[in-house]
Amino acid sequence: MRHQQTLETSSFLSGIGLHSGNPGSIAIHPAPVNTGVVFVKHIADQIQSCPANITFLGQTDHCTTLQVGEFDIQTVEHVLSALAGLEVDNAYVELLGSEIPAADGSSTPFVDMIYQSGVLIQEEPRKYLKIVQPITVEDGPRSISVLPSALPQITYFIDFPHPLIQQQEYHHFCTPHEYGKNIAGARTFAFQKEVEFLWSRGLGLGGSLHNTVVFAETGLVNDDDLRFSDECVRHKVLDLIGDLSLLGIPVIGHFIAKCAGHALHTQLVQAIIHNPDKWIMLNAGETGKGGILNEKSSFNSTICLPELQPAFHAL
Ligand SMILES: [Zn+2]
Repeated sequence: MRHQQTLETSSFLSGIGLHSGNPGSIAIHPAPVNTGVVFVKHIADQIQSCPANITFLGQTDHCTTLQVGEFDIQTVEHVLSALAGLEVDNAYVELLGSEIPAADGSSTPFVDMIYQSGVLIQEEPRKYLKIVQPITVEDGPRSISVLPSALPQITYFIDFPHPLIQQQEYHHFCTPHEYGKNIAGARTFAFQKEVEFLWSRGLGLGGSLHNTVVFAETGLVNDDDLRFSDECVRHKVLDLIGDLSLLGIPVIGHFIAKCAGHALHTQLVQAIIHNPDKWIMLNAGETGKGGILNEKSSFNSTICLPELQPAFHAL
């Protein structure tokens, strides 16, 4: 039986936010069972918290933002992707500043934080949401679906009119090993012609060749090579894993995305919540063919804000 997991100890990272350009730091701390992932921030003398849950979704323009009142966190998807990709269910992500550090544009620095801390198996079984009927959201030619599947997996297609990208397809079996090896290292990418437009809108101000793969008209602006020939589609898988974690529970299903992005990813999360006849809840170890727990009625997209631990400390 699979159990919930948290971290053995806390770990820390500092850097520049990709969109704001402001310095920021995060600490990832252990959390009790059934906490989920919760962002916390010290505002004046108070600690404010924001669960990594779709209920608190802010704007999804080029990055995924969470919002509770004046507590606003930009670019949550890469750290969430690392936590979900390595199957860490419960963690507090403490934030100094308004944006998660961009680090190198991939989720490897967050994966390294988790590996440094160590993953701790907890006493409570893991729960899963198992898809039993397809759910699809579309926006013109862009779409994302989730289909019934025995194992969690993702197939992603992208199509960019650039000689180094064009059509790419990647298939990912969702295991921590596959994630660390094939997904975590894929960096954020952008097109040179778009960069000035982003800047004019106050986005991408912390973007640099240290944290973004920038495509010029025909080649790369960066001096270093791509980490994978299909790095772009792998980064889309990375983003999708982070955005899907806003459901607050791992999903057993086959996600198929075509030219999607943060907006469609999060719309699919909403569609899953609004279609409870298309999934069932399972405890770890159950197959879905018997002994199914009928817990739909207890599933709620709004989770309670947890009590913060007294030992929780400011950076
Ligand atoms: Zn991303």
